[in-house]
Amino acid sequence: MDDANRAGAHLTVDLNALAANYAFLKSQLADDTVCAAVVKADAYGLGLEPVALRLAHSGCNSFFVALIDEAISLRSLLTEHNQKADIFLLNGVENGSESEIHQFGITPVLNSLAEIERWSSYAKQNGGCKAVLHLDTGMSRLGLDSRELNIFSDKPELADGIDITYLMSHLACADDRTATKNKKQRDLFNQYRNRLGIKKASLANSAGILLGAKYHYDLVRPGAGIYGIQPIINEINSLSQVVNLKGKILQIRTVDTGETVGYGATYQTPRTSRLATVAVGYGDGYFRTLGNRGFGYIGKTRVPVVGRVSMDLITFDITDIPEHEVTPGTMVELIGPHYSADNLAADAGTIGYEVLTGLGARYSRNYIGSL
Ligand SMILES: *Cc1c(COP(=O)(O)O)cnc(C)c1O
Repeated sequence: MDDANRAGAHLTVDLNALAANYAFLKSQLADDTVCAAVVKADAYGLGLEPVALRLAHSGCNSFFVALIDEAISLRSLLTEHNQKADIFLLNGVENGSESEIHQFGITPVLNSLAEIERWSSYAKQNGGCKAVLHLDTGMSRLGLDSRELNIFSDKPELADGIDITYLMSHLACADDRTATKNKKQRDLFNQYRNRLGIKKASLANSAGILLGAKYHYDLVRPGAGIYGIQPIINEINSLSQVVNLKGKILQIRTVDTGETVGYGATYQTPRTSRLATVAVGYGDGYFRTLGNRGFGYIGKTRVPVVGRVSMDLITFDITDIPEHEVTPGTMVELIGPHYSADNLAADAGTIGYEVLTGLGARYSRNYIGSL
């Protein structure tokens, strides 16, 4: 049995689609706006190495990650492949991380006065320290709040030694084109920029790019859109699907009317039914909330998940599929052209981001397109 056949499901990541999405997002921007790529959480679960290399070969020279180890892995990978890039560390300068950040040429995002002071004191001794300054305009998560900003604008020497290359903030509701908070955050961001007199700025994630040029500034930070997740709700997705997931049928059985399926006996067959059990479960990131709610596809035919999702198994009702078309070993589309990660997320009660970052470690993985 080869590796692919041993696995319960095959995950295929289309790097050509990924590159097309990056090119599409970049095409929305003015020529002098930098299109960075957010590759935190193992490139949204799709694999840092293939994703970052393909993006680098597509002309991307700025990357954002969340954790210092992600930044260091990315730096090593890019260096190994003779690629130069700016690597921005969203989670900032934690106590004791200064010398590693410096050594690996990472640009931290400074999220508080404490981080500014920490990086400044390191910078004054060592030199050559860049940073992005993060201002909170409505997330209440990371970034200087208005109180900290007041202190900083009265005492800009707190950042002595630091070359602040960008001001940044993050939109809370960019996925909703009608949200009034978008413009409110932009206005506040502009006000803060004027006060600090730092010119270069970054505000937009994927959805922010699609909100229009006023949100673009000098650098944008798309993640989701690159991976094919629809950035703005209730709009047609103009991005290409990057992820395809097919689960393997282990067994097919016919059950009488009135039999129950799975734990808790939450599904009862309304007719004599043919059921297919597939070797994927919540242990693979296939959400348990998809029990009696999710779908798969066999060819062009939609088959519903019946009963609860188990750790390693799901059961589909395949009564509508002609018998000769399915056998054990037949692959069921779990994410693909008929049922996107966003579709699956909607049925699971979550967002495509969580579907991608939850993609299981047990899947066999295959990449389409060159690095
Ligand atoms: C994750 C993240 C992004 C990317 O957002 P998408 O919606 O995936 O495009 C951009 N900026 C910050 C600060 C983030 O944390």
